[in-house]
Amino acid sequence: MGASVQLRSIDMDLKKEIERLSGQKLDACYLCGKCSAGCPVAPYQDIPPHVVMRMAQWGSKKVLGSKMIWNCASCGTCYTRCPNNIDVARVCGALSQISRREGLVADKVAATLREKFVESVKNNGRVHELSLVVAMKMASRDYLGDLDIGIPMFLKGKFPLFGHKIKDLNNFQKLFDSKKKGDK
Ligand code: SF4
Ligand code: SF4
Repeated sequence: MGASVQLRSIDMDLKKEIERLSGQKLDACYLCGKCSAGCPVAPYQDIPPHVVMRMAQWGSKKVLGSKMIWNCASCGTCYTRCPNNIDVARVCGALSQISRREGLVADKVAATLREKFVESVKNNGRVHELSLVVAMKMASRDYLGDLDIGIPMFLKGKFPLFGHKIKDLNNFQKLFDSKKKGDK
């Protein structure tokens, strides 16, 4: 895990934008590391959450190229452990938004999955699992992996060919669009 950080550029506008999108006060973090110690995905990432926080505090653009910001599972463990009530998942979410905007996405499979998940929820009011699986396979080009699990699940009807739409889709989509506008 590359916990050491070399800063090459500092952008205070970036820091403000992260705070605006995440609703978190970055300077409240004093780098105790409790978030990273409890994070279930940190051991598999390029940098752990407390380093994401440090880089965000300094407005380092390098954090936009991190895999951690795409693989945060929004599990909330860091939030429950943080002595300063910082929601690191929201910071990761803000960073991934900016990362996409800047064309710096480090994990294209995770980014595609997230995009397709949101698209599926918007179009149907719920997730269509098969669309997500196909999108993930296309993005990763791993067409044969997990077939030993996927085929039995398909045969048991866990991956229906067509998605179902919720009843009050119109109202749901209005709510969805208003939330998206609020995020910008
Ligand atoms: S637990 Fe909170 S204060 Fe500690 S490093 Fe993580 S975000 Fe910062
Ligand atoms: S919300 Fe994200 S950063 Fe926080 S513990 Fe869970 S996976 Fe890690």
